[in-house]
Amino acid sequence: MEKVILLKPYFSHTIWGGRKLREVFGYDEPGDDIGECWGISAHPVGESTALGGEYDGKRLSELWNEHRELFGNASGDRFPLLVKIIDAREDLSIQVHPDDEYAGVHENGSLGKKECWYVLDCPEDAELVIGHNAKTADELRSMIHDGRWNELIGKVKVRKGDVIQIDPGTIHSITAGVCILETQQSSDITYRLYDYDRIRNGKKRELHIDKSLDVITVPSPDANDMVVKNASACDPGVTCLVDCDRYRVSKVRVSGDLSFACDVGFVNASVIEGSGKVFDTDVRKGSHMLITAEGAENIVMSGDMELIISYIKN
Ligand code: ZN
Repeated sequence: MEKVILLKPYFSHTIWGGRKLREVFGYDEPGDDIGECWGISAHPVGESTALGGEYDGKRLSELWNEHRELFGNASGDRFPLLVKIIDAREDLSIQVHPDDEYAGVHENGSLGKKECWYVLDCPEDAELVIGHNAKTADELRSMIHDGRWNELIGKVKVRKGDVIQIDPGTIHSITAGVCILETQQSSDITYRLYDYDRIRNGKKRELHIDKSLDVITVPSPDANDMVVKNASACDPGVTCLVDCDRYRVSKVRVSGDLSFACDVGFVNASVIEGSGKVFDTDVRKGSHMLITAEGAENIVMSGDMELIISYIKN
């Protein structure tokens, strides 16, 4: 069994995207509106495909459906996670996601979306939109109805390397100049609450106020509590960032040789700085890969690089 399967990303072009994903991460993708690089995705909207090796050209969903042994025979009707890099040249709209239960009923059986952000780069004094200040559902409704956005939305200051966990029901938005790596459930369900009244091609983008009101958590958890502060080393070179019911996310720092075990069926890995090897496979900043069941037993890396890895609990 191959221990590493490199993945070719899917790119999404958006009105708020830019050139950073090509110029900073080296992706061979044209355009001045590259918003997202879906590095590890089996979502029907945009899939990654195997790059080289035995499975060259296979879509990740095909690998999941036809070669479940690569994933340690993990259960589930679809590959559960999606790892993407988002480059916001402009503010994204203010949005909220449903949980599995709501999405299952109202969005055709889709998963809900719990997500976590690792801040790859941001301007000094960057603030992200997280949470809100309404105390009751009635107050939330009237603040949205009256357009009292400045009063309503919560903000939190972030720096490079910060980690933020966004539970379903939490209002959030990435702001201009911020670049993040997002680990999320494999879902593309987003309810747009406010788009700063921006006009594009002569009209405003569609909002989803009713569904947003259905799913927004009231009162909002404190935005500062969503910035992860208790990251801790779990192995030499490996720092656990988030451990929740849908995924675990860790940061790996390689300087020379490093090996560690993950007692799980498979591991998603993305290189965010530097270059090196994962087993015998050359990787560099921007590389995304699947470490298969056989590799996860004892992951061997070398070089000078940083990675974000994620996996699900068995
Ligand atoms: Zn989101």
